[in-house]
Amino acid sequence: VRIRPITSEDLVNLPTRFQKSVLSTAPYAPNQVIVAGEKKQYFSYDYVFGPDSTQKDVYDRAVLKLIDKFLEGYNVTILAYGQTSSGKTFTMGTSDNDLIDPDDKGIIPRAVSTLFSSMESAQYKTRKFSIKVSFIEIYNEDLIDLLGEGDGESRPQVLIREDSKGNILWSGLQEIKVNSVEEVISHLTRGSLNRQTGATDMNAKSSRSHAIFSVTLAQQKFISSGGSSPSPQPDQKSGVRPPSRSNSRLSRRFDEGEWVSVTSKFHFVDLAGSERLKRTSAVGERVKEGISINSGLLALGNVISALGDPNKAKHTTHIPYRDSKLTRLLQDSLGGNAQTLMIACVSPAEYNLVETVNTLKYANRARNIKNNATINAEEAGWNDVEHLQTLVMRLRNEIKILKAATGV
Ligand code: ADP
Ligand code: MG
Repeated sequence: VRIRPITSEDLVNLPTRFQKSVLSTAPYAPNQVIVAGEKKQYFSYDYVFGPDSTQKDVYDRAVLKLIDKFLEGYNVTILAYGQTSSGKTFTMGTSDNDLIDPDDKGIIPRAVSTLFSSMESAQYKTRKFSIKVSFIEIYNEDLIDLLGEGDGESRPQVLIREDSKGNILWSGLQEIKVNSVEEVISHLTRGSLNRQTGATDMNAKSSRSHAIFSVTLAQQKFISSGGSSPSPQPDQKSGVRPPSRSNSRLSRRFDEGEWVSVTSKFHFVDLAGSERLKRTSAVGERVKEGISINSGLLALGNVISALGDPNKAKHTTHIPYRDSKLTRLLQDSLGGNAQTLMIACVSPAEYNLVETVNTLKYANRARNIKNNATINAEEAGWNDVEHLQTLVMRLRNEIKILKAATGV
Protein backbone atom coordinates (compact mmCIF):
# COMPACT_ATOMS: atom_id res chain seq x y z
CA VAL A 1 0.00 0.00 0.00
CA ARG A 2 1.23 3.48 -0.80
CA ILE A 3 -0.21 6.53 0.92
CA ARG A 4 0.36 9.70 -1.07
CA PRO A 5 0.87 13.03 0.70
CA ILE A 6 -1.85 15.69 0.83
CA THR A 7 -1.29 17.57 -2.44
CA SER A 8 -1.68 21.23 -3.31
CA GLU A 9 -4.66 20.16 -5.48
CA ASP A 10 -6.31 18.70 -2.36
CA LEU A 11 -5.95 22.04 -0.58
CA VAL A 12 -7.73 23.76 -3.48
CA ASN A 13 -10.32 21.12 -4.42
CA LEU A 14 -11.45 19.52 -1.16
CA PRO A 15 -13.74 21.15 1.41
CA THR A 16 -11.46 22.51 4.17
CA ARG A 17 -13.03 20.48 6.98
CA PHE A 18 -12.32 17.20 5.11
CA GLN A 19 -8.70 17.94 4.18
CA LYS A 20 -7.11 16.45 7.27
CA SER A 21 -5.27 13.16 7.07
CA VAL A 22 -6.98 10.07 8.47
CA LEU A 23 -4.22 7.56 7.72
CA SER A 24 -1.12 6.88 9.75
CA THR A 25 1.69 4.38 10.00
CA ALA A 26 3.55 3.31 13.11
CA PRO A 27 7.31 2.75 13.37
CA TYR A 28 6.79 -0.30 15.62
CA ALA A 29 4.55 -1.96 12.99
CA PRO A 30 5.96 -0.81 9.65
CA ASN A 31 3.62 -3.01 7.60
CA GLN A 32 0.45 -1.60 9.07
CA VAL A 33 -1.94 1.19 8.07
CA ILE A 34 -4.05 2.75 10.80
CA VAL A 35 -7.30 4.43 9.82
CA ALA A 36 -8.48 7.06 12.30
CA GLY A 37 -12.13 7.23 13.29
CA GLU A 38 -14.53 6.55 16.15
CA LYS A 39 -13.07 3.08 16.15
CA LYS A 40 -9.54 2.76 14.76
CA GLN A 41 -9.07 0.23 11.95
CA TYR A 42 -5.82 -1.64 11.32
CA PHE A 43 -4.74 -3.23 8.02
CA SER A 44 -1.51 -5.16 7.31
CA TYR A 45 0.36 -5.67 4.04
CA ASP A 46 3.69 -6.89 2.71
CA TYR A 47 4.88 -3.29 2.42
CA VAL A 48 3.44 0.02 3.52
CA PHE A 49 4.84 3.24 2.09
CA GLY A 50 3.84 6.35 4.00
CA PRO A 51 3.31 9.85 2.59
CA ASP A 52 7.02 10.66 2.99
CA SER A 53 8.24 7.67 1.00
CA THR A 54 10.13 8.46 -2.19
CA GLN A 55 9.84 6.89 -5.63
CA LYS A 56 13.23 5.31 -4.97
CA ASP A 57 12.02 3.75 -1.66
CA VAL A 58 9.10 2.09 -3.41
CA TYR A 59 11.27 0.86 -6.25
CA ASP A 60 14.16 -0.44 -4.12
CA ARG A 61 12.00 -2.24 -1.58
CA ALA A 62 9.16 -3.65 -3.66
CA VAL A 63 10.21 -3.75 -7.30
CA LEU A 64 13.98 -4.22 -7.73
CA LYS A 65 14.04 -7.92 -6.88
CA LEU A 66 11.35 -8.58 -9.49
CA ILE A 67 13.79 -7.49 -12.22
CA ASP A 68 16.06 -10.42 -11.35
CA LYS A 69 13.07 -12.74 -11.50
CA PHE A 70 12.22 -11.32 -14.91
CA LEU A 71 15.78 -11.91 -16.15
CA GLU A 72 15.57 -15.47 -14.83
CA GLY A 73 12.59 -16.01 -17.12
CA TYR A 74 9.56 -15.43 -14.93
CA ASN A 75 6.59 -13.37 -16.06
CA VAL A 76 6.14 -10.35 -13.81
CA THR A 77 3.12 -8.07 -13.39
CA ILE A 78 2.74 -4.91 -11.33
CA LEU A 79 -0.78 -3.53 -10.92
CA ALA A 80 -1.53 -0.05 -9.59
CA TYR A 81 -4.98 0.02 -8.02
CA GLY A 82 -6.85 2.89 -6.38
CA GLN A 83 -9.30 5.72 -6.85
CA THR A 84 -8.65 8.55 -9.29
CA SER A 85 -5.88 10.89 -8.06
CA SER A 86 -4.61 8.40 -5.47
CA GLY A 87 -1.17 8.25 -7.15
CA LYS A 88 -1.34 5.28 -9.57
CA THR A 89 0.14 7.04 -12.58
CA PHE A 90 2.73 8.88 -10.47
CA THR A 91 3.86 5.65 -8.77
CA MET A 92 3.93 3.62 -11.97
CA GLY A 93 5.47 6.37 -14.12
CA THR A 94 2.99 5.57 -16.90
CA SER A 95 3.16 9.07 -18.34
CA ASP A 96 6.79 9.87 -17.53
CA ASN A 97 8.94 11.51 -20.20
CA ASP A 98 12.64 12.27 -20.52
CA LEU A 99 12.26 15.76 -19.01
CA ILE A 100 11.05 14.56 -15.62
CA ASP A 101 13.04 15.27 -12.43
CA PRO A 102 15.04 12.06 -11.83
CA ASP A 103 13.72 11.82 -8.24
CA ASP A 104 10.12 11.80 -9.52
CA LYS A 105 10.64 8.98 -12.00
CA GLY A 106 8.17 6.18 -11.51
CA ILE A 107 8.52 2.41 -11.62
CA ILE A 108 8.54 1.93 -15.41
CA PRO A 109 11.61 4.08 -16.24
CA ARG A 110 13.47 2.74 -13.19
CA ALA A 111 12.73 -0.87 -14.09
CA VAL A 112 13.75 -0.39 -17.70
CA SER A 113 16.97 1.28 -16.64
CA THR A 114 17.84 -1.59 -14.24
CA LEU A 115 16.97 -4.07 -16.98
CA PHE A 116 19.33 -2.55 -19.54
CA SER A 117 22.19 -2.20 -17.06
CA SER A 118 21.71 -5.78 -15.80
CA MET A 119 21.95 -7.11 -19.34
CA GLU A 120 25.39 -5.51 -19.60
CA SER A 121 26.55 -6.91 -16.26
CA ALA A 122 29.05 -9.74 -15.90
CA GLN A 123 26.34 -12.07 -14.61
CA TYR A 124 24.39 -12.00 -17.86
CA LYS A 125 27.21 -11.37 -20.31
CA THR A 126 27.04 -14.80 -21.94
CA ARG A 127 23.37 -14.42 -22.85
CA LYS A 128 21.77 -12.93 -25.95
CA PHE A 129 18.84 -10.61 -25.35
CA SER A 130 16.16 -8.98 -27.43
CA ILE A 131 13.55 -6.61 -26.04
CA LYS A 132 10.18 -5.46 -27.38
CA VAL A 133 7.62 -3.11 -25.91
CA SER A 134 3.89 -2.70 -26.40
CA PHE A 135 1.30 -0.39 -24.87
CA ILE A 136 -2.38 -1.19 -24.77
CA GLU A 137 -5.43 0.50 -23.33
CA ILE A 138 -8.78 -1.00 -22.38
CA TYR A 139 -11.54 1.55 -22.78
CA ASN A 140 -15.21 0.55 -22.77
CA GLU A 141 -14.06 -3.08 -23.18
CA ASP A 142 -12.32 -2.13 -26.44
CA LEU A 143 -8.62 -2.84 -26.82
CA ILE A 144 -6.68 0.11 -28.20
CA ASP A 145 -3.08 -0.18 -29.35
CA LEU A 146 -1.46 2.98 -28.01
CA LEU A 147 1.61 2.42 -30.21
CA GLY A 148 -0.47 1.47 -33.27
CA GLU A 149 -0.23 3.21 -36.62
CA GLY A 150 -3.11 5.49 -37.62
CA ASP A 151 -5.88 6.48 -35.27
CA GLY A 152 -9.51 5.65 -34.52
CA GLU A 153 -11.11 3.10 -36.87
CA SER A 154 -7.98 2.63 -38.98
CA ARG A 155 -6.03 1.09 -36.10
CA PRO A 156 -5.69 -2.67 -36.30
CA GLN A 157 -7.86 -4.56 -33.84
CA VAL A 158 -6.11 -6.32 -31.01
CA LEU A 159 -7.35 -9.83 -30.29
CA ILE A 160 -6.75 -12.12 -27.35
CA ARG A 161 -5.92 -15.75 -28.17
CA GLU A 162 -4.81 -18.75 -26.17
CA ASP A 163 -2.23 -21.20 -27.53
CA SER A 164 -2.28 -24.98 -27.03
CA LYS A 165 -0.29 -24.65 -23.80
CA GLY A 166 -2.74 -22.14 -22.34
CA ASN A 167 -0.45 -19.12 -22.81
CA ILE A 168 -2.33 -15.90 -23.48
CA LEU A 169 -1.31 -14.26 -26.76
CA TRP A 170 -2.27 -10.75 -27.88
CA SER A 171 -2.44 -10.59 -31.66
CA GLY A 172 -2.60 -7.57 -33.96
CA LEU A 173 -0.56 -5.56 -31.48
CA GLN A 174 2.47 -3.43 -32.36
CA GLU A 175 5.45 -4.85 -30.55
CA ILE A 176 8.40 -2.56 -31.07
CA LYS A 177 11.98 -3.71 -30.79
CA VAL A 178 14.04 -1.43 -28.56
CA ASN A 179 17.77 -1.11 -27.87
CA SER A 180 18.00 1.52 -25.15
CA VAL A 181 16.25 3.09 -22.17
CA GLU A 182 15.72 6.28 -24.22
CA GLU A 183 13.86 4.37 -26.94
CA VAL A 184 11.58 2.75 -24.38
CA ILE A 185 10.77 6.11 -22.77
CA SER A 186 9.98 7.69 -26.12
CA HIS A 187 7.41 4.95 -26.85
CA LEU A 188 5.99 5.26 -23.34
CA THR A 189 5.57 9.02 -23.77
CA ARG A 190 4.02 8.68 -27.22
CA GLY A 191 1.57 6.03 -26.03
CA SER A 192 0.51 7.86 -22.90
CA LEU A 193 -0.33 10.94 -24.97
CA ASN A 194 -2.79 8.72 -26.83
CA ARG A 195 -4.55 7.63 -23.63
CA GLN A 196 -8.26 8.29 -23.29
CA THR A 197 -8.91 10.84 -20.61
CA GLY A 198 -11.95 12.94 -19.88
CA ALA A 199 -12.90 15.49 -17.30
CA THR A 200 -15.33 14.86 -14.46
CA ASP A 201 -15.73 16.84 -11.29
CA MET A 202 -13.46 14.42 -9.40
CA ASN A 203 -10.25 15.16 -11.24
CA ALA A 204 -9.75 17.13 -14.43
CA LYS A 205 -7.40 14.49 -15.77
CA SER A 206 -9.01 11.43 -14.29
CA SER A 207 -8.64 8.33 -16.33
CA ARG A 208 -11.37 5.85 -17.00
CA SER A 209 -9.25 3.35 -18.87
CA HIS A 210 -6.79 0.65 -17.94
CA ALA A 211 -3.32 1.04 -19.46
CA ILE A 212 -0.92 -1.88 -19.79
CA PHE A 213 2.69 -1.21 -20.75
CA SER A 214 4.51 -4.48 -21.52
CA VAL A 215 8.14 -5.41 -21.97
CA THR A 216 8.88 -8.73 -23.64
CA LEU A 217 12.34 -10.16 -23.07
CA ALA A 218 13.63 -12.95 -25.30
CA GLN A 219 16.95 -14.48 -24.32
CA GLN A 220 19.15 -17.44 -25.08
CA LYS A 221 21.02 -18.92 -22.18
CA PHE A 222 23.22 -21.94 -21.69
CA ILE A 223 22.02 -24.23 -18.93
CA SER A 224 24.81 -26.52 -17.84
CA SER A 225 23.69 -29.89 -16.57
CA GLY A 226 26.38 -29.96 -13.91
CA GLY A 227 30.05 -29.06 -13.83
CA SER A 228 31.22 -25.60 -14.70
CA SER A 229 31.95 -25.79 -18.40
CA PRO A 230 32.38 -22.41 -20.04
CA SER A 231 29.28 -21.25 -21.88
CA PRO A 232 29.73 -21.14 -25.64
CA GLN A 233 28.18 -18.27 -27.59
CA PRO A 234 25.06 -19.11 -29.59
CA ASP A 235 25.67 -19.44 -33.32
CA GLN A 236 24.83 -16.08 -34.91
CA LYS A 237 23.35 -17.53 -38.09
CA SER A 238 21.37 -20.51 -36.91
CA GLY A 239 19.99 -18.61 -33.93
CA VAL A 240 19.16 -20.98 -31.12
CA ARG A 241 20.53 -24.16 -32.71
CA PRO A 242 22.88 -25.82 -30.22
CA PRO A 243 26.53 -26.35 -31.12
CA SER A 244 26.97 -29.34 -33.42
CA ARG A 245 28.08 -32.53 -31.78
CA SER A 246 31.11 -33.75 -33.66
CA ASN A 247 33.12 -36.67 -32.41
CA SER A 248 35.95 -34.36 -31.58
CA ARG A 249 37.04 -34.50 -27.96
CA LEU A 250 37.30 -30.71 -27.84
CA SER A 251 33.57 -30.19 -28.23
CA ARG A 252 32.73 -32.69 -25.47
CA ARG A 253 32.49 -29.94 -22.87
CA PHE A 254 29.54 -28.43 -24.77
CA ASP A 255 27.64 -31.63 -24.05
CA GLU A 256 27.37 -30.64 -20.40
CA GLY A 257 24.19 -28.67 -20.95
CA GLU A 258 21.71 -27.19 -23.43
CA TRP A 259 20.99 -23.84 -25.03
CA VAL A 260 17.52 -22.76 -24.06
CA SER A 261 15.49 -19.85 -25.28
CA VAL A 262 13.45 -18.13 -22.61
CA THR A 263 10.76 -15.52 -23.13
CA SER A 264 9.33 -13.51 -20.26
CA LYS A 265 6.81 -10.67 -20.08
CA PHE A 266 6.70 -7.75 -17.71
CA HIS A 267 3.30 -6.02 -17.51
CA PHE A 268 2.99 -2.60 -15.88
CA VAL A 269 -0.72 -2.05 -15.31
CA ASP A 270 -2.18 1.37 -14.48
CA LEU A 271 -5.77 0.50 -13.63
CA ALA A 272 -8.78 2.76 -14.09
CA GLY A 273 -9.98 4.68 -11.05
CA SER A 274 -11.67 2.36 -8.55
CA GLU A 275 -14.19 4.92 -7.27
CA ARG A 276 -17.90 4.22 -7.38
CA LEU A 277 -19.72 5.69 -10.34
CA LYS A 278 -22.08 7.83 -8.26
CA ARG A 279 -19.20 10.01 -7.07
CA THR A 280 -18.33 11.16 -10.55
CA SER A 281 -21.83 12.57 -11.33
CA ALA A 282 -21.56 10.95 -14.73
CA VAL A 283 -24.03 11.62 -17.50
CA GLY A 284 -24.56 10.31 -21.05
CA GLU A 285 -21.44 8.73 -22.53
CA ARG A 286 -19.67 8.98 -19.19
CA VAL A 287 -22.15 6.58 -17.60
CA LYS A 288 -21.30 3.88 -20.13
CA GLU A 289 -17.60 4.47 -19.57
CA GLY A 290 -18.04 4.30 -15.83
CA ILE A 291 -20.02 1.09 -15.94
CA SER A 292 -17.72 -0.77 -18.28
CA ILE A 293 -14.67 0.22 -16.28
CA ASN A 294 -16.30 -0.98 -13.15
CA SER A 295 -16.95 -4.28 -14.95
CA GLY A 296 -13.19 -4.69 -15.51
CA LEU A 297 -12.37 -3.93 -11.89
CA LEU A 298 -15.35 -5.99 -10.74
CA ALA A 299 -14.07 -8.98 -12.70
CA LEU A 300 -10.56 -8.38 -11.32
CA GLY A 301 -12.06 -8.37 -7.83
CA ASN A 302 -13.93 -11.61 -8.49
CA VAL A 303 -10.85 -13.30 -9.91
CA ILE A 304 -8.79 -12.15 -6.93
CA SER A 305 -11.48 -13.31 -4.55
CA ALA A 306 -11.71 -16.75 -6.21
CA LEU A 307 -7.92 -17.10 -6.10
CA GLY A 308 -7.43 -15.50 -2.72
CA ASP A 309 -10.01 -17.20 -0.53
CA PRO A 310 -8.45 -20.53 0.48
CA ASN A 311 -11.87 -22.09 1.24
CA LYS A 312 -13.36 -20.98 -2.03
CA ALA A 313 -10.28 -21.96 -4.01
CA LYS A 314 -10.57 -25.53 -2.75
CA HIS A 315 -14.10 -25.93 -4.11
CA THR A 316 -14.03 -23.74 -7.19
CA THR A 317 -11.95 -24.72 -10.16
CA HIS A 318 -13.63 -21.98 -12.19
CA ILE A 319 -11.85 -18.64 -12.04
CA PRO A 320 -13.93 -16.03 -13.93
CA TYR A 321 -11.12 -14.70 -16.16
CA ARG A 322 -13.45 -14.45 -19.16
CA ASP A 323 -15.75 -11.90 -17.51
CA SER A 324 -13.71 -8.94 -18.77
CA LYS A 325 -10.96 -8.03 -21.23
CA LEU A 326 -8.74 -6.94 -18.36
CA THR A 327 -8.82 -10.29 -16.54
CA ARG A 328 -8.57 -12.20 -19.81
CA LEU A 329 -5.46 -10.24 -20.83
CA LEU A 330 -3.90 -10.77 -17.43
CA GLN A 331 -5.05 -14.38 -17.05
CA ASP A 332 -1.56 -15.83 -16.87
CA SER A 333 -0.42 -13.03 -14.54
CA LEU A 334 -3.05 -13.63 -11.88
CA GLY A 335 -2.64 -16.89 -10.02
CA GLY A 336 -0.92 -18.27 -13.10
CA ASN A 337 2.63 -18.40 -14.26
CA ALA A 338 3.79 -15.06 -12.87
CA GLN A 339 5.22 -12.99 -10.05
CA THR A 340 2.58 -10.38 -9.24
CA LEU A 341 2.76 -7.20 -7.19
CA MET A 342 -0.31 -5.07 -6.58
CA ILE A 343 0.30 -1.56 -5.35
CA ALA A 344 -2.82 -0.13 -3.74
CA CYS A 345 -2.64 3.66 -3.84
CA VAL A 346 -4.62 5.70 -1.33
CA SER A 347 -5.25 9.33 -0.50
CA PRO A 348 -4.90 10.23 3.19
CA ALA A 349 -7.61 12.94 3.11
CA GLU A 350 -10.73 12.41 5.22
CA TYR A 351 -12.81 13.41 2.20
CA ASN A 352 -11.77 10.15 0.48
CA LEU A 353 -12.22 7.93 3.54
CA VAL A 354 -14.89 5.62 2.07
CA GLU A 355 -12.91 4.88 -1.11
CA THR A 356 -9.69 4.57 0.89
CA VAL A 357 -11.18 1.90 3.16
CA ASN A 358 -12.59 0.10 0.08
CA THR A 359 -9.12 0.07 -1.46
CA LEU A 360 -7.48 -1.15 1.76
CA LYS A 361 -10.00 -4.02 1.96
CA TYR A 362 -9.54 -4.90 -1.71
CA ALA A 363 -5.75 -5.00 -1.28
CA ASN A 364 -6.13 -7.16 1.80
CA ARG A 365 -8.03 -9.76 -0.23
CA ALA A 366 -5.49 -9.63 -3.04
CA ARG A 367 -2.73 -10.50 -0.59
CA ASN A 368 -4.04 -14.08 -0.27
CA ILE A 369 -3.14 -14.94 -3.88
CA LYS A 370 -0.55 -17.67 -4.11
CA ASN A 371 1.00 -17.56 -7.52
CA ASN A 372 2.46 -20.68 -8.98
CA ALA A 373 5.59 -19.38 -10.66
CA THR A 374 7.71 -21.37 -13.06
CA ILE A 375 10.26 -20.34 -15.67
CA ASN A 376 9.08 -20.19 -19.30
CA ALA A 377 11.95 -22.16 -20.77
CA GLU A 378 11.83 -24.15 -23.96
CA GLU A 379 14.73 -26.31 -25.06
CA ALA A 380 16.58 -24.83 -28.01
CA GLY A 381 15.83 -26.59 -31.28
CA TRP A 382 12.53 -28.01 -30.00
CA ASN A 383 10.74 -26.99 -33.21
CA ASP A 384 13.63 -27.97 -35.45
CA VAL A 385 12.96 -31.36 -37.10
CA GLU A 386 16.56 -31.81 -38.18
CA HIS A 387 17.80 -31.23 -34.65
CA LEU A 388 15.18 -33.60 -33.23
CA GLN A 389 16.04 -36.34 -35.78
CA THR A 390 19.72 -36.10 -34.88
CA LEU A 391 18.75 -36.31 -31.22
CA VAL A 392 16.60 -39.43 -31.79
CA MET A 393 19.42 -41.14 -33.67
CA ARG A 394 21.84 -40.35 -30.88
CA LEU A 395 19.47 -41.59 -28.18
CA ARG A 396 18.80 -44.83 -30.10
CA ASN A 397 22.51 -45.33 -30.34
CA GLU A 398 22.99 -44.70 -26.63
CA ILE A 399 20.23 -47.20 -25.80
CA LYS A 400 21.88 -49.79 -28.02
CA ILE A 401 25.21 -49.28 -26.27
CA LEU A 402 23.58 -49.42 -22.83
CA LYS A 403 21.67 -52.58 -23.72
CA ALA A 404 24.82 -54.21 -25.00
CA ALA A 405 26.73 -53.22 -21.88
CA THR A 406 24.11 -54.50 -19.46
CA GLY A 407 23.28 -57.57 -21.54
CA VAL A 408 19.51 -56.85 -21.62
P1 ADP B 1 -4.06 8.59 -10.40
O1 ADP B 1 -3.22 8.10 -11.53
O2 ADP B 1 -4.31 7.55 -9.34
O3 ADP B 1 -5.32 9.23 -10.84
P2 ADP B 1 -1.94 10.53 -10.06
O4 ADP B 1 -0.78 9.61 -10.09
O5 ADP B 1 -2.24 11.29 -11.29
O6 ADP B 1 -3.25 9.73 -9.60
O7 ADP B 1 -1.75 11.49 -8.80
C1 ADP B 1 -2.59 12.60 -8.55
C2 ADP B 1 -1.75 13.80 -8.15
O8 ADP B 1 -1.03 13.55 -6.94
C3 ADP B 1 -0.68 14.13 -9.18
O9 ADP B 1 -0.55 15.53 -9.26
C4 ADP B 1 0.57 13.52 -8.61
O10 ADP B 1 1.74 14.16 -9.05
C5 ADP B 1 0.37 13.67 -7.13
N1 ADP B 1 0.99 12.57 -6.37
C6 ADP B 1 0.57 11.29 -6.33
N2 ADP B 1 1.35 10.54 -5.53
C7 ADP B 1 2.30 11.37 -5.06
C8 ADP B 1 3.41 11.20 -4.16
N3 ADP B 1 3.69 10.00 -3.60
N4 ADP B 1 4.18 12.29 -3.89
C9 ADP B 1 3.90 13.48 -4.44
N5 ADP B 1 2.87 13.71 -5.27
C10 ADP B 1 2.07 12.68 -5.59
MG1 MG C 1 -3.75 8.09 -13.56
